[in-house]
Amino acid sequence: MSLQSIVSRHLESGESLRIEWTGEIITQIQPAPESHASKWLAPCLFDVQVNGYNGVDFQGDDVGLEDLLRAVHGLRQAGCTTFLLTLITDEWPRLLRRLNHLRDLRQQSPELIQAIRGWHLEGPFLSPEPGYHGAHNPAWMLDPSPRHLRELAATVEGDAVLLTMAPERQGVMAAVEAATAMGWKVSLGHSNASAAELAEAILRGARGFTHLANACPRELDRHDNIVWRVMDGGFNFFSLIPDGMHVSPPLFRLIHRAAGKPRIIYTSDAMAAAGAPPGRYRLGTMELEVGGDQIVRQPGKTNFAGSALRPIEGVLRATKMLGGDWREAWRRYSVNPAALMGWDPALKPGMPADFCLLTTNSNGNLEEMQVWHRGRLFAVTELLN
Ligand SMILES: [Zn+2]
Repeated sequence: MSLQSIVSRHLESGESLRIEWTGEIITQIQPAPESHASKWLAPCLFDVQVNGYNGVDFQGDDVGLEDLLRAVHGLRQAGCTTFLLTLITDEWPRLLRRLNHLRDLRQQSPELIQAIRGWHLEGPFLSPEPGYHGAHNPAWMLDPSPRHLRELAATVEGDAVLLTMAPERQGVMAAVEAATAMGWKVSLGHSNASAAELAEAILRGARGFTHLANACPRELDRHDNIVWRVMDGGFNFFSLIPDGMHVSPPLFRLIHRAAGKPRIIYTSDAMAAAGAPPGRYRLGTMELEVGGDQIVRQPGKTNFAGSALRPIEGVLRATKMLGGDWREAWRRYSVNPAALMGWDPALKPGMPADFCLLTTNSNGNLEEMQVWHRGRLFAVTELLN
């Protein structure tokens, strides 16, 4: 196995570095005397909420190994090598069966084990209130009990779990505490909780809020609504869908300016249409329409149902909306989501040689992305920011 190396700049410090690897594993990262002003080394994107991709709906009951690999390859092409496979509200036994099936498939492929870092259960412990339930079916929603958590723990067998729950539901406060004690991470969402309920859930261990400014009615009380309450609350993290549609550009900018301490996480909340052409796609039992504008809708309804956003496109759109530094956007789609899960994504010797190499033009804008996977160049994408 031959030694390979690349000189580029560190995403955070801007310092010149040489990364070396042999076969699939990084052997050394050290300062380099030569400089490469326009090349940047970054950890690949990590998405905490992916419901499907590349034509594959993870909510389907007939998902096969090839389907999961197709989704993983599509995400990797878009700069995202790891993600939390997300299952949305369904009848509880069916949800567990689906999770079990997906875990079995993952077990059959080292590539899937590496890519699917864990599971995000968005539901069924959510608010059934109109507007807040979004595309989730309120009929399948539940109050969490210790039995549900035991059954889930027996199914995931120690895998990483992110749970999105609405704290105003009966039993959620105890579930937040129990989930946190098991090492799972809790994000609140699809919720119209009061400020006091949000604060109590945070005290009991909730860390984040899921896709802020979505999963709420289009029209809200201007003085008191869930978006203001969350922004005014003590969250460590909240996620945003940076496609320019789920959160309007002015609100997107305002949230970034007002965020202060909480770390903002970008997520695609992608469904099957992401990385695939416009058309009709499924998300569980729903048939959804995706137009050329990439907006995902239930036919005849105005609310969004997931997105068709490709992760790298999210970095570009966020950078454009903020008129800021692409490196900040990259952090919010790699370092920050890893921090929500308690992980350190920094590239180090001994780790697999999975990284992105970004090239910038003379204005400092992104021009090209190379995705390196297991020491090999997997994809080169031209970026027009
Ligand atoms: Zn949602």
